[in-house]
Amino acid sequence: MMEPAAAASAGGFPHPAMHDADFEAERRDMIERQLRRRGLHDKKVLDAMFAVPRHEFVLPEYVGAAYDDRPLPIGPAETIPQPYIVAAMSAAAQIEPGDCALEVGTGSGYQAAILAYLGARVYTIERNPELAGQARERLARLGYTAVEVIHGDGSNGYAAAAPYQAILVTAAAPAVPPPLLEQLDEGGRLVIPVGDRYHQFLQLIFKHGGRTAARLLDPVQFVPLVGQQAWPEQT
Ligand code: SAH
Repeated sequence: MMEPAAAASAGGFPHPAMHDADFEAERRDMIERQLRRRGLHDKKVLDAMFAVPRHEFVLPEYVGAAYDDRPLPIGPAETIPQPYIVAAMSAAAQIEPGDCALEVGTGSGYQAAILAYLGARVYTIERNPELAGQARERLARLGYTAVEVIHGDGSNGYAAAAPYQAILVTAAAPAVPPPLLEQLDEGGRLVIPVGDRYHQFLQLIFKHGGRTAARLLDPVQFVPLVGQQAWPEQT
């Protein structure tokens, strides 16, 4: 069983003495050292990473580490990815205002908030009901009205709102789930970690003229995508 997230249920700031401004310097530092220095220069993505308060998406005990160069736990087996990975996936997805985007693996809702800040209408799907509920509440509280959180198995995509100009999968798949390719719009981009349970490469897949072409990006380590078109539940 998961502990209820105190930050989410408190309905306000995790630490009363902390204000958003306290984290501005940390966010600037994160952008400089973790993103620009690694060659990430997409201005819209850097603006989004500066604007979205990552410390609101982590567990209360990790607020002080929210802008560190590493993933952080958000549940018993779930993690919020390292800032660089969120930024790299967002840049690869080439979001334009008005795009319809699908995220598979809502987790904390942080990646969804970045996509919404970039101007997308976001459908994000999460298999863990507690995380889905907490992310829905958190995103509403922070004013991300363009995000809809769905509880379900995202390895089947989410046909109800397809086609998508961008699909981001933030859990590791053994292979690209066919429904995601079907739900990708002509000209659309799919960003997905593919590999074994412990090591994957991010793939950027384009759909043009009904065909798909893939490009390999960074090596990554995501938690497994568990579902009908992905890994089976571990016993
Ligand atoms: N993008 C998130 C982090 C995701 S961690 C963030 O910004 O915080 C990966 C998440 O994928 C976990 O929460 C896990 O429960 C979820 N997940 C795994 N398999 C899934 C599936 N088939 N459908 C939807 N979510 C899934």
